Amino acid sequence: MAQESVTRESVVLPVPLPPLVQDKLAQRFDLIPLWNAPDREALIARIAPQIRLMATALPVIADGVKHPITADFMDRFPKLEIIGNIGVGYDNIDAGAAHARGIIVTNTPDVLTDETADTAFGLLLSAVRQLPQADRYVREGKWPAKAFPLTTSLRNRTMGIVGLGRIGKAIAQRGQAFGLKIAYHSRSQQQNIAYPYYDKLEDLARACDILVVATPGSAQTVNLINASVLDALGPDGILINIARGTVVDEAALITALSEKRILTAGLDVFAKEPEVPAELIAMPHVVLLPHVGSATHWTRDAMGQLMVDNLIAYAQARGPLTPVAETPWPRG
Ligand code: NAP
Repeated sequence: MAQESVTRESVVLPVPLPPLVQDKLAQRFDLIPLWNAPDREALIARIAPQIRLMATALPVIADGVKHPITADFMDRFPKLEIIGNIGVGYDNIDAGAAHARGIIVTNTPDVLTDETADTAFGLLLSAVRQLPQADRYVREGKWPAKAFPLTTSLRNRTMGIVGLGRIGKAIAQRGQAFGLKIAYHSRSQQQNIAYPYYDKLEDLARACDILVVATPGSAQTVNLINASVLDALGPDGILINIARGTVVDEAALITALSEKRILTAGLDVFAKEPEVPAELIAMPHVVLLPHVGSATHWTRDAMGQLMVDNLIAYAQARGPLTPVAETPWPRG
C-alpha cells in the first residue's frame, strides 16, 4: 500500500518550553531550539527563510531564559506567520510590530484565570493575616514564649480592582464570597457589571482599603500604581500585585511602605524579576512570591496545550484559536 508522504513543518523555539509542551509539539512538528545552539546566529541564518511557526513563553515559564520577541528578531524570519505564546500576558512579544508584519500572536487566556485568582487571594490572605510570618514564628520556636501578635483583618473592607478583566472578575467573585465590597477601575466602564466604577484610579484607591492590580503589562500600564495612587490608598491600605512588576512604581512602593504611608503589600511580580529589591526583602511584613500566579501542574499543562492547539489549528489552515487583540484573525 502506498504510504502518503507528509512533510513535517518546523517550529522554532527561541526559549526552552516545559518538556510536556515540547513533547506535544514534537508529535506534530520538527522542533528547532535556538537557546542551546552552539552558533545561534548561524542556525537562524540557515533556517529562518523557511520558518512560518514560532513558539515561546515568558521567562517564568522558560526557566528564566529571557528572550523578548522584538521587531528586529521578527525581521530575521521573513516568512514568519504566527507566534504562539504560553501565558495570557504577552509583554515578552512586541505585538504591535507583529501586527505591522502580518504576524499573528496567540496567548493562553481563560485556562489560567481561576489559578491566578486563587493565588491573588492567597497573597491577600497572607498579607492581611501575616500567615507566612506566623508559619516562621512557629518554626523559629517563638510560640511557647509569646502568642503571635494580632493582625489586621479582611472584615469591613472594600477591595478595589485595577483591571476588571477575566482575572480581575475571578478575584472579585472570591472577594464577594469573603464578604468584601468590590469596586473597580479600568479604561472603560463595563455594561452589566454592578460593581461601582471609578474612571480615575486615584479615586478608586481613596475609596478602598485593598487595591488589587490585574491589568496587562504594557507601555500604557508602566508605573500606573505611582506615589499618588499609594497615598490615596492610605495608611491602612494593602496593595496586591498579580499583574506585572512594571505596573507598580517599585521605588514609590518601597518609600510608601517604609514611611508607613500604606500598611503592607503582597507581590507576585517584580519589575526586574527574578531580582527583587533588597528593601522589599528586608521588610518582614510584606509578602513576596516568585511569580507563581499560574504555577500549578494542571494549569501550566492547560496553558501549554492551548499554545500547541493554536499552532496545530493554524498549520491545518483552521486559523488561530486565541489571537491577541493587536493581531486579529482574519488578519486586520
Ligand atoms: P484581560 O481579561 O484582558 O483583562 C485586563 C483588564 O485590564 C481589562 O479589564 C482592561 O480593561 C484592563 N486594562 C488594560 N489596560 C488598562 C489600563 N491602562 N488601565 C486600567 N485598566 C486597564 O486579561 P486577564 O486574562 O485578566 O489577565 C490580566 C493580566 O494578568 C495579564 O495580562 C498578565 O499580565 C497578568 N497575569 C499574571 C499572572 C501571574 O502569574 N502573576 C498570571 C496570569 C496573568 P480596559 O480595556 O477597559 O481598560
